[in-house]
Amino acid sequence: MAEDNKNNQDEYEKVCYVCRRSESKAGPMVRMPGGICMCQDCLQKSFDAAITMTGGDFSKLMPQDGAGNLPASPENGTGSTADEDGTDSRNSGNGFPGMNSPFGFSMVMTPEEIQSMLGRRPMPKSVKKTENSEAPKIDMKKMPAPHRISEMLSEYVVGQDHAKKSISVAVYNHYKRLANADKDVEIEKSNMLMIGPTGSGKTFLVKTLARLLDVPLAIADATALTEAGYIGDDIESVVTKLLAAADNDVARAEQGIIYIDEIDKLARKRNATQRDVSGESVQQGLLKLLEGAEIEVPVGANSKNAMVPLETVNTKNILFICGGAFPDLEEIIKERLNEKSSMGFNADLKDKYDKEKDILKYVETEDIRRFGMIPEFIGRLPVVFTLTPMDKDMLIRVLKEPKNAIIKQYQKLLEMDEVKLEFTDDAYEAIAEKALKRDTGARALRSVIENFMLDIMFEIPKDPNIGTVTITRDYIEGTGGPVIGMRG
Ligand code: ADP
Repeated sequence: MAEDNKNNQDEYEKVCYVCRRSESKAGPMVRMPGGICMCQDCLQKSFDAAITMTGGDFSKLMPQDGAGNLPASPENGTGSTADEDGTDSRNSGNGFPGMNSPFGFSMVMTPEEIQSMLGRRPMPKSVKKTENSEAPKIDMKKMPAPHRISEMLSEYVVGQDHAKKSISVAVYNHYKRLANADKDVEIEKSNMLMIGPTGSGKTFLVKTLARLLDVPLAIADATALTEAGYIGDDIESVVTKLLAAADNDVARAEQGIIYIDEIDKLARKRNATQRDVSGESVQQGLLKLLEGAEIEVPVGANSKNAMVPLETVNTKNILFICGGAFPDLEEIIKERLNEKSSMGFNADLKDKYDKEKDILKYVETEDIRRFGMIPEFIGRLPVVFTLTPMDKDMLIRVLKEPKNAIIKQYQKLLEMDEVKLEFTDDAYEAIAEKALKRDTGARALRSVIENFMLDIMFEIPKDPNIGTVTITRDYIEGTGGPVIGMRG
């Protein structure tokens, strides 16, 4: 147990109470009463301040009773108020006041009192060590091959085979890049751009991937990001989120994944008369993150202004995945394709692509640029792939097939009441049809189901004789009830 504690302590490094730098940056710390630490620079500064304040007479800093006597202390034999680590936070410094009174008042106040006086929040006393704790080495032998990654994804994500294939290969290459020791051939980063309508599974795909690979994941919304200094989350906050997802372990965060959703909302407005700078400047701001930069992030808070320790995170090995619905991109692609096909000797019908259903798959970087993304930004997302919109069949599969499919979850819940929940094929179709009307892809399924499952979950446990419940199309359309079967 004690050994465990010791190991835990070894894993963390101390942080200076005043300047918030960690031991690896500020050098060895001096341990102060009350469990706080100070770096030697700050200690020197507080000495200088104490000399200026007292004119060199440190006895002025000592708390004295009315008669000018020193307060009780172990040294003068009048008792002690030892704190958790056995030192006395109030008066152990009576031999040399400056040692425990950097501001001249810590002798008579607890660290918490000082913090509240300075208007500071309590801060973590330590952050995970980075210098000595090497980034976990990637063992390519243990890394599943792309086809395995894709198979694993398929247990949860229905359809979207092209997206699964692309993401599996890109992730595999990404980790190969981290494992690559050959400095001559540097493998390019495989940041990705995912294009697909709402509810087609973009976020779900990334979440599932991060869980399967056991890497930290941060999900951010591009619409909330602003340039530093404006209201909103500044761009670097995405790295703060990742560090939090990695339990403040910098080495783990540096090999994690950041997913930025709604990236299309950062597009420069087309046909705008004025120059639109808001989205474009966030794109600019993201460039250095995507490429790899050292970012100072606060630990345990999302603002650098809070008095919390800062850690440096290098984004060089972080995999960035951007996703967006890119509405109207289809028009841009069609325009380009139709233009091309109606030119030259091989001229085709002018509207050859107008009837094409999955036009997104023809996307090229030129189309994304015309949509309003800046070329430097597109250049940093070399892997581009698309997801198909959800049709009725896919929605039915989403209901039934994934390992944690929503229907399976309800079945499990009722199984605990010893009731069997079943759906007719018609019922599945009716749910999918209702969801399709909402135009939010698979996202609509949950709310459609929750609407009618509420009554079932409320009523069925009332009667212990009920053994089966079958959901029918009539019940979903509100023209009938579920079919109830009794036990025995
Ligand atoms: P997007 O990010 O594309 O807007 P999401 O990934 O958030 O959509 O999807 C919403 C929900 O729909 C997910 O939480 C998931 O439960 C379900 N879902 C979407 N696509 C699929 C899919 N292909 N397979 C299984 N479930 C899916």
